Amino acid sequence: MNVEKTGGRPFGSGRCSSLSGSPGAAPVVHRMVEAMSQLREEKAQLQEELVALRERLAVRDSEQQATSTQLQNQVEHLKEKLISQAQEVSRLRSELGGTDLEKHRDLLMVENERLRQEMRRCEAELQELRAKPAAPCAGCEHSQESAQLRDRLSQLQLEVAENKGLLSELNLEVQQKTDRLAEVELRLKDCLAEKAQEEERLSRRLRDSHETIASLRAQSPPIKYVIKTVEVESSKTKQALSESQARNQHLQEQVAMQRQVLKEMEQQLQSSHQLTAQLRAQIAMYESELERAHGQMLEEMQSLEEDKNRAIEEAFARAQVEMKAVHENLAGVRTNLLTLQPALRTLTNDYNGLKRQVRGFPLLLQEALKSVKAEIGQAIEEVNSNNQELLRKYRRELQLRKKCHNELVRLKGNIRVIARVRPVTKEDGEGPEATNAVTFDPDDDSIIHLLHKGKPVSFELDKVFSSQASQQDVFQEVQALITSCIDGFNVCIFAYGQTGAGKTYTMEGTPENPGINQRALRLLFSEVQEKASDWEYTITVSAAEIYNEVLRDLLGQEPQEKLEIRLCPDGSGQLYVPGLTEFQVQSVEDINKVFEFGHTNRTTEFTNLNEHSSRSHALLIVTVRGVDCSTGLRTTGKLNLVDLAGSERVGKSGAEGSRLREAQHINKSLSALGDVIAALRSRQGHVPFRNSKLTYLLQDSLSGDSKTLMVVQVSPVEKNTSETLYSLKFAERVRSVELGPGSRRTELGSWSSQEHLEWEPACQTSQPSARAHSAPGSGTTSRPGSIRRKLQPSA
Ligand code: ADP
Ligand code: MG
Repeated sequence: MNVEKTGGRPFGSGRCSSLSGSPGAAPVVHRMVEAMSQLREEKAQLQEELVALRERLAVRDSEQQATSTQLQNQVEHLKEKLISQAQEVSRLRSELGGTDLEKHRDLLMVENERLRQEMRRCEAELQELRAKPAAPCAGCEHSQESAQLRDRLSQLQLEVAENKGLLSELNLEVQQKTDRLAEVELRLKDCLAEKAQEEERLSRRLRDSHETIASLRAQSPPIKYVIKTVEVESSKTKQALSESQARNQHLQEQVAMQRQVLKEMEQQLQSSHQLTAQLRAQIAMYESELERAHGQMLEEMQSLEEDKNRAIEEAFARAQVEMKAVHENLAGVRTNLLTLQPALRTLTNDYNGLKRQVRGFPLLLQEALKSVKAEIGQAIEEVNSNNQELLRKYRRELQLRKKCHNELVRLKGNIRVIARVRPVTKEDGEGPEATNAVTFDPDDDSIIHLLHKGKPVSFELDKVFSSQASQQDVFQEVQALITSCIDGFNVCIFAYGQTGAGKTYTMEGTPENPGINQRALRLLFSEVQEKASDWEYTITVSAAEIYNEVLRDLLGQEPQEKLEIRLCPDGSGQLYVPGLTEFQVQSVEDINKVFEFGHTNRTTEFTNLNEHSSRSHALLIVTVRGVDCSTGLRTTGKLNLVDLAGSERVGKSGAEGSRLREAQHINKSLSALGDVIAALRSRQGHVPFRNSKLTYLLQDSLSGDSKTLMVVQVSPVEKNTSETLYSLKFAERVRSVELGPGSRRTELGSWSSQEHLEWEPACQTSQPSARAHSAPGSGTTSRPGSIRRKLQPSA
């Protein structure tokens, strides 16, 4: 208790100090009187103070009374509040208390258990179903559907498992919440107990305070102290009250919080209820689906069972029928077996016999093979010798044929002259000059009559073709010569006569009616093809012209180039023309191309081709090279087809300049041709081949063993009789020349007893190709040091 605070003095201490100061003398009495007066003053003062205090106490008392009643009221109110809160708590407990949650939880657990059981049942059913239909359904039309159902089932199972997980989670949550609720309840209980304690304490204190106040009222002396105590007590009470109020507030907050928690839990519970309902609905759906699948399965199984039964019945019936048949067969087989047994026995015997024979068979076979081999060898030998004999005979026949052919040609003469009279043409005009002056002997086709200046003149030639003779008729006459070229003879065919007498027509002809040139080549191709099994032939073609004693290549790239005739450097005496183009031809198309090319060359060179060609000699040189496949014998024959320049004589006065030069050159070459033939006829030692380019070039084909044909072209009309007479005279002169027997030019890779051989080193190596070096008379493709052989015909 704070005494100083009140400003007064404790009772005890004042009393003690006054007693201890009384003994002593007058000063002491004085001092005592003074002290007495002081004390009296003090007493008065204290009495005044007491009155004041009493007054104040009264006031205080009344105040205390009021405060006490107020407090009492407040306590009452608090008590009421507490009671109502307790009631509220109990109500809440009854409403949402643990028992309800527990009930819910229990219900859910029961529900869960039930669902679990149902699930187990479903699974068992499912397994049963799975086990059942698998075998009979294999390959049946429902298997697909059942597989689908199974898939769906497994899906549903999965979903159920998921839901189970969800449910267990929810259970856990509910459990957790229940635990929390219990905790909260516990706390609430504690709080309430605390509150009750506090209330009790407060009421106790209140009671104490009342008692104190009452006791204070009863005792007046220590009023001051009591008042103080009461004051102090009162403030304490107030403090306790405020504390309890704060506590109350806190409790109220806690209750509100608990309410909030409860609300949340309610919500959670509600959501879990919803989830449960959903799950239940799903499970119901699955169940219905399961039921449906189960029903379908049952139906399918039933139908399958029926099918199976039916099939079994049918199979049984069929099997019975088959069995019956098999039984019958068996019976037949048994009887057959009985009959077959003896046959088998004989067969076994036969087999054994055969086996024994087979053992000896290889030996027999070897012997047989040996004898057959010997026979075959003998037969082959015979055939071989026969073949040899046949080959020998064939060769002999060939020789004989050639001999006969040569004999024929010889009989016909090595130089043969034929005349061909062209028909009268428009160009001949009309009038007496265009009258026909040529007639024929109806009994002798070698006689021609010419009416020259009114005088009939007759000529005998090897053959005379009238104007009616066709190109083919003429060709028939020269055919034999051309064939001999294949056999390796050199041949010359000249067309001689005045310009316009038909030389070019006979040699070249027209595209529709070709002449000797083209027909000869065609014949060569066909002959060569016929012999293709024994002989390998290559045919090459060159074309040249001689104009004003200059030799040009008509197939070359540069036709204006002058070509020279040279002696082969090998000393064989053979001639060749360096740079003369040779084309190998294999078909009529090739020939046409060659002729066209030559013609184009000539046309581009000369503006007036007709005029030019009548003043130049055109030569087509065909070389035929052959190899006998069996013997290796090589032959080379050359066919020279010459369209000579016009033979008309140019009057010395009438021509001058280039025309005169041309005429001189033509005259020179034609008379050189005549001279050469004359020299050959009279077998002179010297034949003047070199007098003209033409004779020099054709030396090989004119000399000794060659064959020559001259076609003398004749114009039938009156105005040409002088030239016709001249031509026919020339022809007759040429015809009387006798060439030596035709010789054949061959090469052979081996020696032969009957044949005279001489060495001939190769002078040129041209293969048929453009721009090759060709040597007239030789033209063979040969190896260096190959042997050239001259066959003496009719040896
Ligand atoms: P050359 O070459 O001798 O100068 P051509 O061959 O050019 O003579 O002939 C002169 C003309 O006579 C040409 O129009 C030719 O068609 C014609 N002719 C020549 N011979 C015959 C014949 N046998 N049949 C028909 N027409 C011919
Ligand atoms: Mg002509």
